Amino acid sequence: MATEALKESDSDPRVRRARVSELEVVRHHFDRAWDSLGLKEDARQIFWEPYREISVQIPIKLSDGEMHVFHGFRIQHNGARGPYKGGMRFHPEVDVDEVRALASMMTWKTAVAGIPFGGAKGGVNVDTRGLKEHELEGIARALMDKIAKLVGPNRDIPAPDIGTNAQTMAWLMDEFGKLNGHTPAVVTGKPISLEGSYGREAATGRGCVVMFEEAAQKLGMDPAETTFMVQGFGNVGSWIARIMQGLGAKMVAVADQDGAIRSEAGIDADRLVEHVHVHGGKLTEFSEAEEIDGGDFYEVPCDVFFPAALGGMVHEDNACVFNFKVMVEGANNPTTFAADQILADNGVYVVPDLIANAGGVVVSYFEWVQNLQHFRWEEDAVNDMLRGVMTRTFGEVSARAEKDGKSLREAAFEIGIDRVVEASRTRGYFS
Ligand code: NAD
Repeated sequence: MATEALKESDSDPRVRRARVSELEVVRHHFDRAWDSLGLKEDARQIFWEPYREISVQIPIKLSDGEMHVFHGFRIQHNGARGPYKGGMRFHPEVDVDEVRALASMMTWKTAVAGIPFGGAKGGVNVDTRGLKEHELEGIARALMDKIAKLVGPNRDIPAPDIGTNAQTMAWLMDEFGKLNGHTPAVVTGKPISLEGSYGREAATGRGCVVMFEEAAQKLGMDPAETTFMVQGFGNVGSWIARIMQGLGAKMVAVADQDGAIRSEAGIDADRLVEHVHVHGGKLTEFSEAEEIDGGDFYEVPCDVFFPAALGGMVHEDNACVFNFKVMVEGANNPTTFAADQILADNGVYVVPDLIANAGGVVVSYFEWVQNLQHFRWEEDAVNDMLRGVMTRTFGEVSARAEKDGKSLREAAFEIGIDRVVEASRTRGYFS
């Protein structure tokens, strides 16, 4: 399991997760933006702290015959701009601080992207690997039973994240429906057979690639001529790989929780998906690439790096050995502020999570709109609209960054916070 894999590699400081918590990282960016915007000190706490935190117990008998007690969270950070919105993570390291950090990121992310949602996040501290399907279903249904009064199409709309997928969303929707009648708009990221949106599964990865294309244009790079590596080969990472490959780019290294592989000749993304996701093979056993040490992954030379796994993976012990020109953050909070500074000092162009991985929530918004109308749009239309939102967002953030001499991350936080504060003030929440 991931925790064990990380412990085993503690001896190599490049591989461990950051010592600084994700909550501290987000607080750092939030405070810096708040100060720079010159906003009132007495309102800082209102926008930093979550509006509501729900913590529930999930006792369940697993197939080992024992009762296991998991903890579920749903944290609603800010709803000034619309219903709370954010993913549900099933991962053994989920804890309340991580969920707080991720919930606040959702508030700023939906605001920068200009979609009418607030921010939330949820999760269960469960290792899904090795669990049977009915056990996962039991956990998902128990979670929904306990939070059902506080979610809904106009209240809070969960979506997939690490360890959850379209099937999990189907169980959450079904459980909510038992209490409230059929309500597809209560969750997004659902299967196509249950009013999911075309394009949602690939949306986060597709959005990351659009952001890379925007960055490439600025930097004078040709996407077809680039080499890239991906950390995490789940939903986000595997779609980044496939879509980048479709542009003609070459994937030279990939890592996941089992280890890392590389090939200078290029790793075929479709065949790796087949190996890992269709046949359930280990990434490290893919016969068309060489297995490498998890720490050495960080030193593979390439043009673009896409972190698409956990938070805190890019820190002061590995940022100095990275060997790329552009980093597009598919994962949430992958980079500590110390590493951010090291990358900036080395001239790396960083497209931050707040805008880079917004494609998922943007198409979740499209799914919600379709569900409210019980109508379906074609995939090309969804992808075109996604591109429109991503390029507008990149344009607004990069224009502000260039005007003020700031990083894209600083500019994105400032735009997001500005919009949420403005909405709250207009509602009359504070003056
Ligand atoms: P997923 O569960 O589908 O995949 C996670 C991947 O990370 C797996 O390949 C896993 O093996 C890998 N991983 C886990 N621990 C690792 C480690 N120590 N080293 C290397 N790889 C490791 O999850 P996902 O939905 O693809 O989410 C990935 C990231 O993207 C998360 O940070 C998530 O918050 C973020 N994100 C996801 C979405 C979405 O729509 N799914 C949207 C925005 C952001």
